[in-house]
Amino acid sequence: MEKKRDSALGMDRNITRRDFLNGCAVTIGASLTTASSTWVKLLAAAETAPEKDPNYYPPAKTGMRGSHDGSWEVAHGLRDGETWPDPVADQESYDLLVVGGGISGLASAYFFRKFAGSRSKILILDNHDDFGGHAKRNEFQTSQRLLIGYGGTQSLEAPHHYSKEAFGLLQELGIDVDRFHKYFDQKLYKGMGLKRATFFDKETFGIDRLLPGFGTHYLGLTYPPEVLAQIPISDAARKDLERLQETKVDYLPGLSTGEKRRKLIKTSYKDYLLQYVKVHPDVIKIFQTAPHGLYAVGIDAVSAWDCFEMDYPGFAGMKLEGREDSPEQAEPYIFHFPDGNASVARLLVRSLVPGSVPGTTMEDVVTSRVNYGRLDDSEVAVRIRLNSTAVHAQHVGDPHDAKQVEVTYVRGGKAHKVRAAHCVLACYNMVIPYLCPEMPEKQKEALSYCVKLPLVYTNVQIRNWESFQKLGVSQIYSPGGYFNGATLDFPVSIGDYHFPSKPEEPCLLHLLRTPCKPGLPAKEQYRAGRYELMTTPFEVFERNIRDQLGRMLAGGGFDSARDVQGITVNRWPHGYAYEYNPLFEPLDRPDSERPCVIGRQAFGRIHIANSDADGHAYTNIAIDQGYRAVREITAG
Ligand SMILES: Cc1cc2nc3c(=O)[nH]c(=O)nc-3n(C[C@H](O)[C@H](O)[C@H](O)COP(=O)(O)OP(=O)(O)OC[C@H]3O[C@@H](n4cnc5c(N)ncnc54)[C@H](O)[C@@H]3O)c2cc1C
Repeated sequence: MEKKRDSALGMDRNITRRDFLNGCAVTIGASLTTASSTWVKLLAAAETAPEKDPNYYPPAKTGMRGSHDGSWEVAHGLRDGETWPDPVADQESYDLLVVGGGISGLASAYFFRKFAGSRSKILILDNHDDFGGHAKRNEFQTSQRLLIGYGGTQSLEAPHHYSKEAFGLLQELGIDVDRFHKYFDQKLYKGMGLKRATFFDKETFGIDRLLPGFGTHYLGLTYPPEVLAQIPISDAARKDLERLQETKVDYLPGLSTGEKRRKLIKTSYKDYLLQYVKVHPDVIKIFQTAPHGLYAVGIDAVSAWDCFEMDYPGFAGMKLEGREDSPEQAEPYIFHFPDGNASVARLLVRSLVPGSVPGTTMEDVVTSRVNYGRLDDSEVAVRIRLNSTAVHAQHVGDPHDAKQVEVTYVRGGKAHKVRAAHCVLACYNMVIPYLCPEMPEKQKEALSYCVKLPLVYTNVQIRNWESFQKLGVSQIYSPGGYFNGATLDFPVSIGDYHFPSKPEEPCLLHLLRTPCKPGLPAKEQYRAGRYELMTTPFEVFERNIRDQLGRMLAGGGFDSARDVQGITVNRWPHGYAYEYNPLFEPLDRPDSERPCVIGRQAFGRIHIANSDADGHAYTNIAIDQGYRAVREITAG
């Protein structure tokens, strides 16, 4: 029975073998034999320098990506007490060594060259097979064309609000953000009458039903009356939902505006709805996962105040003050390269390592093919060494007057050590206490406070998007689904890259999953979600993708077995930086007492960057923290 169902979903198609290949670069339709032999060759080359292999091109890998197998094992070994005695000493030494090749690490290298001189010798280590960290590029080669997607960091959010350093960096890299007004086709989907929709699944709501005409995210959560009438919930729940949306009631009478604010900050939206608005419990099912994309947890762990700020219903009669238009609302959400902010990472690498990323403009970087063999070249001042996990960073001598830092890293199963005058740790905060056990206890404790948010960005290549057109939808919110929803790719054409703007063309769908565990405190949800992610095989994702897409789009004629042509699951067990959650944190904590501020203090010649260092999961923060870390070194 199960086998029959799998076959109907297309689980027996070639693509399923990607679980087995797990990240091997294959094209749809390529024979398993060809794919396997490529993989075997890459594995064989891994002992030396896989990046020098002309076939080495991580963006084209499909299957399980993000924190792919091979990237995390050494760090987990370090956590579990593994040691790497007798590392071999590298011959080269550097002015700066950066641990972490994400945007923060790359920006650190960029700023260091700017302030310490363009001849500075820099080594960047990263444990992944590609640079960029969360800024990850996914490519799909269809029989007709190349499709480019983002596997992590999606867009530049409100770039005109960036610090002058972060905005200046974008400009120096050649990014003119205003050009996105031309490159992002804001009228495409609207012009075709495509709307947002909600998919009510039978496991949660008793019946599968897709209802167009509803917004999620922070752009409003209100159902128009004709949609409200069809939502598969009891009449009592429907009446409460209507009341929640339409009536203007002060649910906290007698409290001043300030008291209301404090109350709402310390009350989850779920509790607010149940205890103050007194809605039927079935209403909760509709809103539970609405904030997943931003918070990676549901409304049980997001404050009512945050939901008020995101324009969720239930506050119209509360006479609240203090909501400012968020910068995201003030600026349209259009600052998007087809590979997300991977283009920013690629532009940084172009600037740091001459000859690695051909071209000269923000347009040509989109279709440019990176020469990975060039990244770690002894002839070039800046070297990026992929597939290399740092396991130890310590001063050569007393941290107070040492002249060098020595970093041990593991690459291809072997330990190496390398020295530099300065070190920037642009990796995750919680790794640092393991890397640097000699740091003060208070600082290590503060660094360990950060629990990154796990989430999954999945790209699905589909044969065409006619089913979306037929259904009149471009984005589907699925409150009870395995995936929180599915969205047609952003319609961006830039340089030689043209978005597949005709529904008969193949395109990419973006699916979000956040594996949280409602009911637990937020950090516990993140830890449990991370465990789930690391123990979920690709096959489970694939089956859920096929099942959910098939059911959501059935009315448009979508057939998963026929229409799903490629899948890349970017799992990020250590995703967004931990942002303090007022439900579980002390209010009004002075800035100097925030754990990220205590944790990011310079320790001798070791400096700390990464978006964790400011507790905000944004690209501009990653850049700002790289800038701060480098100024600690170069401004004195
Ligand atoms: C799915 C997702 C979507 C996002 N979307 C957006 C968005 O749309 N806009 C936005 O502004 N921000 C977004 N963010 C936030 C994102 O975190 C930042 O934008 C930014 O990319 C973070 O860069 P970083 O360099 O600080 O960290 P990272 O990108 O995490 O880079 C750190 C690197 O260090 C590596 N590392 C860790 N330990 C070691 C070690 N011991 N040795 C070697 N290397 C190590 C890591 O593996 C990683 O590659 C998103 C984040 C995620 C996860």
